[in-house]
Amino acid sequence: MEELKISAHTFNLYFDCPRAFYYNMKNYLQLPIDTEQLLFGSTIHNIIALFYEKLKTSNIEDLDRLWDDVYKECSNYVTNKDENRIAKIKQNFLAFERRRRENSGNDYLVEQRFEAEIQYNNHKIRIVGVIDFYDRQTKTLVDWKTGDTFLSEHKYVFQAHIYKLLLTKNNLDVNKIIFFNLDTGQHVPIPSVSEKFFNRKLNEILNSIKNNCFPARKCYLCKNCPYRIRCEFEGVSIWQIGL
Ligand code: SF4
Repeated sequence: MEELKISAHTFNLYFDCPRAFYYNMKNYLQLPIDTEQLLFGSTIHNIIALFYEKLKTSNIEDLDRLWDDVYKECSNYVTNKDENRIAKIKQNFLAFERRRRENSGNDYLVEQRFEAEIQYNNHKIRIVGVIDFYDRQTKTLVDWKTGDTFLSEHKYVFQAHIYKLLLTKNNLDVNKIIFFNLDTGQHVPIPSVSEKFFNRKLNEILNSIKNNCFPARKCYLCKNCPYRIRCEFEGVSIWQIGL
């Protein structure tokens, strides 16, 4: 097996459909992306990153005002479309930050890229990923979510532990992992999983890669997947179609 680089967020894709994961990993045709939703999410991440950067380098105490200033700097046509949604996100994020500050300080990492190497049957797998927020004092890892994400799904639990692996392999301990939905204020502590569970899931993916076995799995992605026709007609000969 060649040395492989996998980004942490694409592991989710494997649990939806191994074949879509494979295409994504190989940079074949990508699954169509809702560009507005992507832009919305990345803008919110940028706002939060700049918010923390300014908070760290100044003595600003008025968090409301800080958010508004940063928002003016980073907003765009997509975020400006929905003022109510932005107001809600601001409210939820500031409530989170006020609560966090009661127990912790300004020692944190924001939007930081990490890499970690794991060995699998004498082969190297390089995992890369960006950690949204890590509080060094409380050793809490936070992943911001926007939109309708069902956070308790197994795939997200696994993803959270991949992020944890990225940190621990870089000598940063993790006591708690939280997925925080900025739209709803829902705050989901991710349960710890046993090493056995984690390794089983990881090995499932690594075995697929080793054996080059990526079965198609029908899921919500199929509707817009560029490989839909191929999957639907796989194994069907032209004579069976009855042309
Ligand atoms: S069409 Fe569905 S089953 Fe086929 S690769 Fe795409 S997501 Fe997977």
